[in-house]
Parts: sequence; C-alpha cells; structure tokens
Amino acid sequence: MIKIINSEEFSYFLRISRNEIIKIWMDQSEVQNVLHRHSLPIIEKNTHLFYQFCDCYISVIEWRATVTECQVKIDFLQLLNNYNVTVSDLFTLITKLKNAIEQVIFEKGNLSYALQSEIDSLTLQMANDLASNFENLISSNSNYKSENSNLLAEYKKAVDLSNIVSKTNPKGVITYVNDKFCEISGYTRNELIGKPHNIIRHPDMPRDAFKDLWDTIKAKKSWSGVVTNMKKDGGQYIVDTTVIPILDVDGDVVEYIAIRHDITELEETKQQLRNINKAMKNKVDELYSMTNTLEQKAFRDKLTGINNRENFEDIFSIEIANAKQNNLPLSLIIFDVDHFKLVNDTYGHQAGDILLIDLVNLVESNIKNGDIFARWGGEEFVVLTPATDMTGAYNLAENLRKIVEAHTFSYVDKNMTLSFGIAQLSGEDTKKTLFEKADGAMYEAKKNGRNRIEINKS
Ligand code: GH3
Ligand code: MG
Ligand code: MG
Repeated sequence: MIKIINSEEFSYFLRISRNEIIKIWMDQSEVQNVLHRHSLPIIEKNTHLFYQFCDCYISVIEWRATVTECQVKIDFLQLLNNYNVTVSDLFTLITKLKNAIEQVIFEKGNLSYALQSEIDSLTLQMANDLASNFENLISSNSNYKSENSNLLAEYKKAVDLSNIVSKTNPKGVITYVNDKFCEISGYTRNELIGKPHNIIRHPDMPRDAFKDLWDTIKAKKSWSGVVTNMKKDGGQYIVDTTVIPILDVDGDVVEYIAIRHDITELEETKQQLRNINKAMKNKVDELYSMTNTLEQKAFRDKLTGINNRENFEDIFSIEIANAKQNNLPLSLIIFDVDHFKLVNDTYGHQAGDILLIDLVNLVESNIKNGDIFARWGGEEFVVLTPATDMTGAYNLAENLRKIVEAHTFSYVDKNMTLSFGIAQLSGEDTKKTLFEKADGAMYEAKKNGRNRIEINKS
C-alpha cells in the first residue's frame, strides 16, 4: 500500500497512473451516457481532447493551476459545445474524473486527509471555473446561467456532506456555514452568520499563521494547512483546512470557501504516540546505560577501567585462533612494576592506587588502537599485540620502559621502572603455554636486575 502524503508523491502518482485513470474515467457508464447522448464520437482526435482535459484537471489538483492557465480547455469546451453537451454533462465529466482518480488511488494505497480535502475543494474550484468559461463560450444559451448555478449548488451539496464548510465574503464575514460546521463548533447558524470568521479562532494559534493564509487567498490562490479552532464552550478542534477564493468573470474575489476535515482525533493520537515514543526512548536510554554499566562491571578492572583478567582471557583465545587461521604473528608482553611494595609501604596504599591509574593512562596513550591492554592482577599487566612479531613487540616494550622510567608520578619522589617479558606465538602454543613463556621471561628480567626486557627464546 502506498501512503500518499505530500503533493510531490501525489503528482508522481498521477503521472504514472494517467492512462489507467483515463480508462476508468471513460469506461464509467455516466461518462459513456454523456458521450452517447450527444453522439460524440470517440475518434482519435476527440480522445486526444479527453486526455488534455484529464491533464488539465491533474494540473489543477496537482499544482493548483487555474483552468485558464491550462490552455487546453477551450478546444475541449468547443468540442462539447459542438455536440450540444450541457453544463450538467460537463459536471458529470469532472465528477467522474475525480472518482476515477480516487478509485485508482484507493486501489493502490491511500491519501492523507489534507490531500483529500484539497482535491475536493480544487475540483469545486475547477467546476466553478469551467462553468464560467463555458458560459462565455455559449453565452447565447439563455438557460445556461440558472442551470450552472443549480449544478454548482448540487456539487457544493455533495462537498457539504463530507466536509466542514463555511463561506465568507471578501472581508471575512461569515455568509454560510453547513450543518457539520455548526455541529463541531457548537454554535447555531444564527450565531455565526454575519460574524467575522475569527469568532472560532483559538487563542493558541499564532497570528502569523493567519497572515500567510490571508496573503495567499488575497493573491487569489488556495491555501491549505492545519488549524486549531475554538468551540463555543472553549474546547478545541483541529482541522485540515483548504480555503479557496471564488472569482467572478472579471477575476475579482466574490467569496472564500473554506473546506475542512476534522483531524482532532488523529492529531491527539499523534500526540499520544509522540509521548509514548518519548517515554520509550527514555526507557531505552535508561536500559542502555544500565547495560553499559553492567558491561563495564563485568569486563573492566575496577581501579583502572581497562580490561580485567576474565575479559582478557576471552579476547586472548579469539586472537590466538585468529592469528593461527590467518597465519599472522601475535605477541604477548607481560610487565610488572618493580618494587611496588615499597610504594605502598612508604607512601600508603592510596598513593599506590593512584600510581597504578597514572601508569595505565601512560601506557594506554602509547600503544596502538588494536593492541589489547589488560590488568592481569595486582601490579602486573599484559599487552597483547595482534599482527606483531617479536621485534615489533620488543620495540613497543622498550618504548614503554623508557617512558615510564622517565616519568614523574605524583606522590612518589622516586622514579618507577617496569620489568618486561615477551613471547611470540608459535604453531603449537596454547593460551596457557604462551602466557607461561612470557611470564617466565618477565621473571628472568626481574632476576637479571629489573627495568629491562627479556624475550622467550624457545
Ligand atoms: P618486584 O619488583 O619483585 O615486583 O617487587 P614488588 O614489590 O612489586 O613485589 P610484589 O609483586 O610481591 O608486590 C606487589 C605489591 O603490590 C603487593 C600488593 O600489596 C600490591 N598491590 C597489588 N594490587 C594493588 C592495588 O590494587 N593497589 C595497591 N596500592 N597495591 C597493590
Ligand atoms: Mg612488582
Ligand atoms: Mg607483582
């Protein structure tokens, strides 16, 4: 199902469905009757005019052209006149064309309220417009005028049935309201006729909204928009509104017709949906941050925020499998702080904690993005370096060793050093053996005087 909401989608839809619309239109018995009654031959030349008429109607409802702007209608009206087609038949043709379009639309999708009311009002405008053109063309026919106004009245009746309709004079004084208008506004007809239309203006509606409306209709163009109106009892109702200026033969505005659909319920439902959406979004955000916190707790080391041992072990397995599968080098660096116990003993446990945090920050900002840094336990850390061989890992460790050696840690007035052990993954290594190799090398470094790097040679 296609949901046609805006005019662009509507135009596109009309263009692609044009042939189908014309077929349905011309196949309708009422249209056939008109043509047969007047023996209007459907020869190619005439069909062409019907196509033009359809295009003209599409232009009117699509970009609100006036009939005069469509240029094609004189030929068409001439043709109808030649075969003594009456204004009544002309109205039948327009109404049936509108039906054909609606039929095609509803077979394939649906139309927004706004467009529906726009089609209604623009059809009315076109009927009005065509009738006065027809009048000029066949002004010799003296019956025409009363017939025209009768039919226009009939068409308006049809619009009245499904819409909230009012008319005002060019100054905005109400001259007509239909039953639906009275029903929804809570006013009687007598209370409305002769009053300025702003009697139903809702105080919440910004004044600017009406400026645009007036500027448009004074320029003799139709205006459409959503308006909040106020009932007699102070309640509100929301309407999708189209206001069209009705022009006389000289092109002067004689009245404005406003056609509306009540969309209060729709708007309220939309508002409720917006509220529900907002509440849901907040809930999701809340859950998301809760999950985040839980994840952090499960995977992160409490003191330093880097990977904890459990998380590291999982990543370690994956990286080993990955390195073996893709035949890539993988190295593991283990380092331990030299004489860390002294820090605790001399400056207190808290100073020791701060030193560990500083150390982690220092290391973190000197390793690559893809390197996996974790706290193994106490003051012992690991850096797993994917796609890196022993030489690469050694260079990294040496860089870290120098940086830490040169760094001044707060609360501690002596330089700190690290001892490193490194092992590179070989074909038969498991997580356990690779760790043991690097750990063994680290103990060698301790044994050999600390502040140094030992590599596993096996
Ligand atoms: P070595 O050079 O041989 O490694 O000497 P060391 O003093 O560092 O030796 P050892 O590894 O035995 O001592 C580590 C100390 O680190 C012992 C422990 O109390 C302390 N420690 C472990 N975890 C933490 C921690 O989270 N915070 C603090 N402040 N101290 C910790
Ligand atoms: Mg130590
Ligand atoms: Mg230790």
